[in-house]
Amino acid sequence: MESIYNYTIEMLKQYFLDQGEKPFRSSQIIEWLYRHQIDTLDEMTNIKKAIVEQMKQDFYLPRLECVTRQVSSDGTQKFLFRLEDGNLIETVLMHHEYGYSVCVTTEVGCNMNCQFCASGMKKKLRNLETSEIILQILTISKLTGLRISHVVVMGIGEPFDNYENVIRFLKIINYPLGLEIGARHITVSTCGLVDKIYAYADFDLQVNLAISLHAPNNRIRNQLMPINKAYPIEQLIDSIRYYIEKTNRRVTIEYILIKGINDSLECADELASLLHGLNVYVNLIPYNEVSSKPYERSAKESMVAFFDWLKKRKINVQLRKEQGSDIDAACGQLRSKHI
Ligand code: SAH
Repeated sequence: MESIYNYTIEMLKQYFLDQGEKPFRSSQIIEWLYRHQIDTLDEMTNIKKAIVEQMKQDFYLPRLECVTRQVSSDGTQKFLFRLEDGNLIETVLMHHEYGYSVCVTTEVGCNMNCQFCASGMKKKLRNLETSEIILQILTISKLTGLRISHVVVMGIGEPFDNYENVIRFLKIINYPLGLEIGARHITVSTCGLVDKIYAYADFDLQVNLAISLHAPNNRIRNQLMPINKAYPIEQLIDSIRYYIEKTNRRVTIEYILIKGINDSLECADELASLLHGLNVYVNLIPYNEVSSKPYERSAKESMVAFFDWLKKRKINVQLRKEQGSDIDAACGQLRSKHI
């Protein structure tokens, strides 16, 4: 038996064809699962009993157990979920002027070992299945009764290190009869797996891309992010340029400001030169200190000076405000307190 939430519409079509059934059943199933958010297959009243019975032999509808739910003073909510095998994952719900967004986790742990990040201290135990990524959204939607309009793939894990399952997830949440989350409302963030950035550029959904850059050159990036040794910054920039040319979409560059490491005006200037001429938007993010790590957040004045320098060099940039820092829902701190 397999979780039905692992199935794309194409896979469901094939399933029905194999049963000698009409492939259009697949759209009806999608509607029941994601629009009506059923709890049991028996609720599908417009599907023939015999088909439902067969489906019950082949599929089941797993659930995520919500272990804790914390609400921040700014309305951000953090959910701790238990997977069927007992592993714990966290998911964050944020409220914005434009709607509600969910930040999903894609792996149990992470292998990228970014030096500043709390998640990387736990090695990856396994990839999440497509179903487990989708259930984070479905469960939050059910628990809160809210319509989720935006999704960011920026929780624990490196989404491009679990590429196939993440791509399936993106397709499924985008279906018009289902959750119907617009491709333009979805952003996937990567630390820079260059081969997958090329693949993602060629993927037919117009989903957004964010790059965790965090350094303006190989010297600093090698120190902070081991992935840079496999894919140096020049290769990363080439892949970003390809994505922009191919998709005509602006890329978000994430840059956390760490005191004395990457926050000097020389770094700002080098970053401006690196990004010159690219259709990108730089998100400067205050570093969230992690107790067992030596890194510190940049001083307010350094952050503002860095921002001003990029502005002066005509780079599109914003200095991001944090959400949920009082419940450890800010980047990189998910899950680590619980395991
Ligand atoms: N692996 C993906 C997505 C998960 S991490 C990626 O690297 O993009 C989400 C973002 O949080 C990344 O930009 C990551 O570098 C950043 N991050 C990790 N730890 C952080 C911390 N302590 N403070 C601020 N940002 C952090």
